[in-house]
This record gives sequence, C-alpha cells and structure tokens, in this order.
Amino acid sequence: MRQGIFCRNIMFGSSITKTMKIRLTLLICLFSLLYLPVNSTENGKLLVLEDVTIIDGLGNLPQPSSCIFIKEGKIIRICKKDDFKIPKNAQVINLHDKYVIPGLVEMHTHMFNEEVCKTMLAFGITTVRIPAASPKESTGMRSKTASGEVIGPRILTAGDLIDGRESSTGYSLIVKTEEEIRETVRQQAKTGIDYIKLYSSLEPVLVKAAIDEAHSLGLKVIGHLGKTSWTFAANAGIDSLCHSAMSGPIWELIPVEKRDKFLKLSCPIKGFNPNLFMEWGETFNIDGPEMKELTRALVDNKVVVDPTLVMMEAMIWGDDSNYKEILEPDFAPENIAKGWRKENLHLYTSWWSEEAFVSAKKLFPTFSKIVKRLYDGGVLITAGTDAGNPWITPGVSLHREFELLNNAGIPALEVIMIATYNGAKALDISDEVGSIEVGKQADLVILNSNPVENIKNTRKIESILKNGKLYKPSVLLSNKSN
Ligand SMILES: [Zn+2]
Repeated sequence: MRQGIFCRNIMFGSSITKTMKIRLTLLICLFSLLYLPVNSTENGKLLVLEDVTIIDGLGNLPQPSSCIFIKEGKIIRICKKDDFKIPKNAQVINLHDKYVIPGLVEMHTHMFNEEVCKTMLAFGITTVRIPAASPKESTGMRSKTASGEVIGPRILTAGDLIDGRESSTGYSLIVKTEEEIRETVRQQAKTGIDYIKLYSSLEPVLVKAAIDEAHSLGLKVIGHLGKTSWTFAANAGIDSLCHSAMSGPIWELIPVEKRDKFLKLSCPIKGFNPNLFMEWGETFNIDGPEMKELTRALVDNKVVVDPTLVMMEAMIWGDDSNYKEILEPDFAPENIAKGWRKENLHLYTSWWSEEAFVSAKKLFPTFSKIVKRLYDGGVLITAGTDAGNPWITPGVSLHREFELLNNAGIPALEVIMIATYNGAKALDISDEVGSIEVGKQADLVILNSNPVENIKNTRKIESILKNGKLYKPSVLLSNKSN
C-alpha cells in the first residue's frame, strides 16, 4: 500500500542542465527576434487588435467586430471596428474570425520551473497561484517572471504547508500547539510569501489560531483541510479552500450521527479507502441540510473554492491508460512524464481493486453535482488543477478542468468567467487583470474558435498577450516534441 495524499508532488527547483540553459538562451534570442516588432511595452507603440470578438471574462455576451487598443501593456480603448480611426503609426493585428478572452488564472499549481512557466503561458495562463511550495523556490520564481528573466505567468505564492503530522511533500511544517502554529505563521510571513497554507490534519483550534495570526499580519489563508470542516473554517474566516472531493467537505456532508467514520476519507494516512468511499456515496444526500449549511457558510464568509475536479478524475481513472493520455503528459517536463508512464497506475489509487475503480467512476458525477450546487448557491468558484501531482500536466490540465466544470452544468460563458475574472478577484488583483476592460493590463488569449460554443476551444490558442507583449504557443513550446 502506498502513502498517498494530495500535494505530494514533485518539485522542480532551479536545477536545469547546461544543455537546457543553452537551449533556453537560444529560444529566448529567437523569440526576441520574432516578436520585437509588436512589443508595445518596450517601444511604447500603440498596438491594435482589430476586428475581433471579445469575450470579456465578466459573463457578458461575446462582442463581435471589436477593436482593443493597447499601449504600454494596458488596454486604453475598446470600441467597435468602425467607431474609431486607427492612428497610422499603430501596429495593427487583424483578428477577423478570432476570439479574445482574458488571460487564464490557474489557482493551483505546484510545478513552476522555467520550462513549466513557459508551458503554462503557452496554454494561455498569465497568472498562477502556487498554494504551497518551498518559499525560497517559489518567491524566487515569482521575482524572475515579474522581471522577465523567466518567461511565464505572474506568480502569487503560499509557502510551506502547515500540518499536524509528517507528510511527504518535502515542504511541510509540523505544529502541535496553538503557540507553535502562531509562531510558524509569523516565520512564514517573514519569507515574503503571499499566503499561508494550512493542511489536512490540523485540528479546528489550530486552524482558527492560524487564521487569526495570518490576518493580523495581513496575509490570507488557503486551506486543504480534512480534520477541520469547511463550515468551521469558513466561519473562522478562512479565505480560500481547495479540493471539493476526497478531502474538505466530504465527511461534513453526512448527517452528524453517521459522520465519524467518513472523517478518514478527508485525512487519509495510507491512501484512500475505496470501500468507504462507496459507502459515503450511498449515505450522502445533496439535498440534505448539511449541504445547505456549508454553502451558506462559504457564501456568508466570502470563501473562494477551487474544486480541482481534474485531480479527482485522474485518480479515479488511474487504471485507464487511455484516459491518462487525455491529459497529454508530453507537455510535462520529459523526465516527469516518463515517471508517470513508468508508474502507469495513479500513485494515489494504484492499490485499488478493479471493482473499486468501477464503483469510484460511478461516483464522479456526485463530485460534479457538489461543485454545481456550490456554484448555484453563490460560492465564488475558481479553476485550479494541483499540477505537479501524477498525470496533472501543467497547462493541459487547466483546460480539462474547464471541460469538467462545463460538464458539471456550468455554461461555457460562465466557465470562462471562473477561469479569468473569478481567479483575479480571489487573488485581489481584479483591478489589474481578469477581464477585458479599459485600464486593465493587456493579459489576453487570442483563440481560433469560439469557446462559448465549445469550451474545448479554449485550447485553440492563436497567441497570448502578457502585459501587452505577444507570444506564440508554438515558439513557447518549441522545445517540446509535439
Ligand atoms: Zn495542492
């Protein structure tokens, strides 16, 4: 039996080989030559995206035949095609038959080396949240993508995760008492991270103390909780919660008198027990008072949720090699993809029986229903993947998450809002990015097909603008074999 908990991911530090460095340098040079002419940030030239259909990220209907004027990285004008004369000296890109959405916000990745940063940008991701990592590594990469030393998304990051017992992530801090957790939060704050991350085996009293300490230091708190219910954490003021199945709210959605044994599902020590999981599915009632109470607590306390459905899907389909290729592991760093394929089964469910997989697959729609119910109830849902875990390929997996949210019953236009504006709002940067509006940073994704007609079209990326600078996916991914 294998140990298995989420976030037991493989970290990619700054270790890249000399050959990779040379290749990267050559690529950067090539890239600079190809894109200098449209770089509106460096030369201050006006860039106009002409005759494009705008999907603004705010849930408004697509606006065809529009123009977006960009100067010094910012959107300075949005108008209909013939409403404003384009100045002669402007750089114009005609995008007839193309669609533009705001840059995507990936709320949950633990993978962020140079190669992965470029891959994420190639998949339209212009902002990421790292919800736990070594503070030195993640704040280092945050600076590098901010300065342009590394091409990639804007990064916001939590530090080491704080837990009540040892785990295998390589970046967890163990605390036992209220004083210890407060001190740990203070120490984390000194590392310059953006968020505090709390983990699954923490008792409610410690979660509450950590939230209070973090808030007194002006830091928000992300929880991957198990022993502490989401309802308790929401009422205690937590800001953000992740993984809506197989952790978090699972046991608290069961009536109190039957709840105890299901607590193990939220806080597994030796992997997930598939039998218990099935029993949970039969006991859970989506129309029960527990679901209503949880939804109310999340809404009332403005708690943000990233469900990471793709993470659950990859585990449950861990026995199906055809499924796992859907996540296109070749877009992950080569050695990582090789490791996943060598392992074959998903690390966290590799010991499940054939019958367990069959039953678990039947439960997946229940997880989707929980997300839809939270969404309909007014909870701020965002999109994240837990990239870095087995088979969760950076970039690709976020687009799969969009499909799963759409399959859960959320219309494509609203999934786009979840993927863009909701993420920016959750990260408190919606006055800068997350929607296509005058004054916002020009973080944009130009698509070849309409994503409102088919959410899979978010994958059909023609180019990406980050801070007004244009990138082609083929160039960003030119070191990939596919
Ligand atoms: Zn995670």
